[in-house]
Amino acid sequence: MFSRRAAKTAALITGLISAILTVSARAADPNNATPSAPTSVSPPANPLTSPTQVFRYDTSGTWFKGNTHLHTVMSDGGKTYAEVAQMYADRGYKFLFATDHHVATHFGPEMKDAPVLWLDGVEIGGRDEKGCNYHVVCLGTLSGIERKMPLSESLKLARAQGAFTILAHPSWCGNTFQEAIDGNFDGVEIYNHVCHWLNGKSDGKAHWNAMLEVRPNTLAFCSDDAHIKPEHPGFDGGWIVVNARELSREAIMTAIRAGNYYSSCGPDFKSITCDGEKLHLQTSPIQFVRLVGPDSAGLRRGSFDGQTFTEISLDIPRKWSYVYVEIEDIHGRRAWTNTLFTNAKSAAASGS
Ligand SMILES: [Zn+2]
Ligand SMILES: [Zn+2]
Repeated sequence: MFSRRAAKTAALITGLISAILTVSARAADPNNATPSAPTSVSPPANPLTSPTQVFRYDTSGTWFKGNTHLHTVMSDGGKTYAEVAQMYADRGYKFLFATDHHVATHFGPEMKDAPVLWLDGVEIGGRDEKGCNYHVVCLGTLSGIERKMPLSESLKLARAQGAFTILAHPSWCGNTFQEAIDGNFDGVEIYNHVCHWLNGKSDGKAHWNAMLEVRPNTLAFCSDDAHIKPEHPGFDGGWIVVNARELSREAIMTAIRAGNYYSSCGPDFKSITCDGEKLHLQTSPIQFVRLVGPDSAGLRRGSFDGQTFTEISLDIPRKWSYVYVEIEDIHGRRAWTNTLFTNAKSAAASGS
């Protein structure tokens, strides 16, 4: 009896140790300082030596905070242009794109005294010929967009006029990764503030990474999609900060097309530079920084003891097909760069 119990106890202990070791091995993996090899990178590129890859960022200009997605009384929003502009200006915003549903703006001199720079845009939505439900934010001055148009027609019309297209809230729309890729958009919302409020489906980072596997120049956007009415009161939850020479329509649009901005729900990048070997970052106080690549590829710094830092230099991985930076403050709020390197050829060819 005793020996059987002892054998049972020994077996139990052996099983426990084995389970602990297995869990430890799994738990250790995400914190492993050595990045695991990407499994589906095609073709592997060395961003530091490839002649077609150029460092995306030039942060020697001025940072301008703005939002690329919001609604006013011109569609289903609750505030006028003047009211929205003042609310955002009071939070430090310098520019706003008006993106009312199927209402393309043509802002002129009447907006010159507004407390923010107003920029033209529109949000179109509907099902394409395959039945996929897309919402698309189009940045630019566009004509001829009408609500009754099929989505594919209004998208074609917008692109023919040079619109910059952003796939809006893909999780909230139920878009698959393949739909996000097939739409051939210039960018995608990785955070949408009103969707966070509506049902928590605010996150588009997985869609973005799927798109990056195919087109590593796809740009990321945090946006409010603000409606600012009693049932949807939120704003200033997700934004972009553009680095440009001046606050003008041309300079902001040029910087957005080049991806010379970051997206944020809290922390700030102050400077993003590369000396050919290392990436150098200056930020607001952050607890963690992560270099993010394809699949499970990642490198991270930071600690769980509440310490923060504002400057860091990191080796740039040489074998990832794309890499971007995520920073996180002590409140768990995050911000993201675009991919650090852009394919000069494809950027020039797309004209975006
Ligand atoms: Zn929408
Ligand atoms: Zn919207």
